[in-house]
Amino acid sequence: MNKTNLFGMTLEELEAELAPLPKFRAKQIAAQIYKHGVKKFDDMSELPKALRAELSEHYEVRVADLLGRLDSADGLTSKFLLGLADGAAVEVVLMLHDYGTSVCISSQVGCQMGCKFCASTLKGLQRNLTAAEMLGEIFFANEILGKAVDSVVVMGTGEPLMNYDELIKMLRLLHEDYCLGMSYRKVTISTCGIVPAIKKLRDEKIPVTLSISLHAPDDNLRSALMPINSAFGLKSLLQAGDDYAQATGRRVTYEYILLGGVNDTEEHARRLAKILSGQLANVNLIPFNPVSERSFKPPTNATVKKFFHFLNTHGIGATIRKEMGADVNAACGQLRAKHNQGVFQK
Ligand code: SAH
Repeated sequence: MNKTNLFGMTLEELEAELAPLPKFRAKQIAAQIYKHGVKKFDDMSELPKALRAELSEHYEVRVADLLGRLDSADGLTSKFLLGLADGAAVEVVLMLHDYGTSVCISSQVGCQMGCKFCASTLKGLQRNLTAAEMLGEIFFANEILGKAVDSVVVMGTGEPLMNYDELIKMLRLLHEDYCLGMSYRKVTISTCGIVPAIKKLRDEKIPVTLSISLHAPDDNLRSALMPINSAFGLKSLLQAGDDYAQATGRRVTYEYILLGGVNDTEEHARRLAKILSGQLANVNLIPFNPVSERSFKPPTNATVKKFFHFLNTHGIGATIRKEMGADVNAACGQLRAKHNQGVFQK
């Protein structure tokens, strides 16, 4: 018989699932699972022995299985391939910055957005991840780290706002005191620009940091790089970003991949500065991370510096993404792609 997995259930769900057990038992079990990271009922010492045995018979606490791991030479980035119950695999990246630890999680298995520079979308969307599976990615990172990560970025494989309900459920659970009690400010959601979902998120009263993958300063180029732009053009996207910043008081980050010779000239920088002027926003420049299946080229170092300098001297706060873990293929989807080709070793 398949056991029911308790991991990822809210307190209310645990109470309902475990009824007629008294509610305080559900609370104890939630604390054991989420606060203390306990996965075996036998190790939940505050529960009576008979109850532990009974729980073990019907339930399990399953987070994720480790399929493989790669560590960067500098020891600051580790990439994990996690196996899910149905055999699907997702990537999780743990990063140690000088300002704290962060985990980058996936929100879907594959992706349907079709961005031309991205490896995650090459085979389309397999399925959405559940709230429990996304939370499991974070708990997995905590287990490796030996403590809770300081921040979470939903910037791995998939488009989080195309998996809206499970994403919100996971964020609310993550924030609960009986779970990790993580502040919403410590969470960043990265989106390719699903405008109606950005509007919805604005009204959830969960002030996470919003990161919008922009990558081009005009509709023609953006639609060529990112098919989603044909559905929601730049004007409505920038408006939604601005509304989000105004409503939450949180500065929106615009991600801008620099693709050599495609979107990295001074004219592009000028147009970018123009469309973002007056917004509570900053720009994070990401030098393109070469993907073997994609023909784009990285920008030169000099171009990156020029672009960065142009923005900062024209009123737009910009940063350059510190390349972490390039030696472990940290760009989205690359590890999973390798795994599917059978290259990735345990
Ligand atoms: N779907 C979401 C989150 C996943 S992609 C989004 O689009 O934001 C996370 C970020 O990595 C996005 O900004 C994406 O455009 C970028 N990215 C994808 N492939 C890349 C590559 N080869 N090099 C650099 N950045 C890449």
